[in-house]
Amino acid sequence: MVAWFTETLHPQVGQRLRIDRLVHSDAGGLQDLVIFDNEQFGRVLALDGVVQVTTGDEFVYHEMLTHVPILAHGAVRRVLIIGGGDGGCLRRCLMHPVDTVTMVEIDRSVVDLCTEFLPEISAGAFDDPRAELVIADGAAFVRETAERYDVVIIDSTDPIGPGAVLFTPAFYADCRRCLTPGGILVNQAGVPAVQSDELLAIADALRQSFTDVTAYLASVPTYYGGFMTLGWASDDANRRRVPVDELSRRFDALGLETRYYTPEVHAAAFALPRWVLDLVGSR
Ligand code: SAM
Repeated sequence: MVAWFTETLHPQVGQRLRIDRLVHSDAGGLQDLVIFDNEQFGRVLALDGVVQVTTGDEFVYHEMLTHVPILAHGAVRRVLIIGGGDGGCLRRCLMHPVDTVTMVEIDRSVVDLCTEFLPEISAGAFDDPRAELVIADGAAFVRETAERYDVVIIDSTDPIGPGAVLFTPAFYADCRRCLTPGGILVNQAGVPAVQSDELLAIADALRQSFTDVTAYLASVPTYYGGFMTLGWASDDANRRRVPVDELSRRFDALGLETRYYTPEVHAAAFALPRWVLDLVGSR
């Protein structure tokens, strides 16, 4: 009998992936976790019925959530990641000449099981001496920390369960306080064709703390519904207008190996369709 994973994120539409081999399943922890193999997308991690990451298309999401803000900033020394238990963002951040990357993940089992069953996603990043892993609620961490960061990356689940707190104005205000002047916050802001309310709410909430708020685009096949938006907030509007020539200079100087990111894709990702601009409320 053929077994299927049917995503439960949206009540009205959704995707299903064939479970070719069930690798691990645990419904008894903080989040209902399942890991399985799928012929098309490789190894898949789902939390609470929602696909989080697959080995087949993780590069799109992780490269765009990390290289875009770091290369746009141009002088990043310290990065804070909230969530991101699979380690894909951590690995990409560590490709840059940073001093430290602090990752605050609420669920240790996601880190442990991804390290065990999807090791190619973090590829040893947790062992890098510049990496600091904190197991805690990201909202509590930014409320209390006295540390400052050049870039804050919110690699969260959707706004349900423990991730809901990472979409609130109070959380964004605390993130703003943790940023150095001219710092950049990015977050996963959903797939607007099926989650337009989410993008609208994120942009409204970010605007309460930042003067420059927009989104940029990436197409991740297993985030159902078309292109996804990544939220962007800073107090320096020039950060999202770095010319392609300068992005290329920074990119080439590092010799970064990427599969989705190019300086041209970076610049073009900020060109938003009219209906997305209207949701984000930016120009
Ligand atoms: N790429 C994925 C996506 O867009 O759906 C997200 C991947 S990552 C696995 C999301 C992580 O956020 C999970 O490991 C989850 O445990 C973590 N998380 C959820 N709520 C959190 C919170 N309040 N503080 C820190 N981490 C949180």
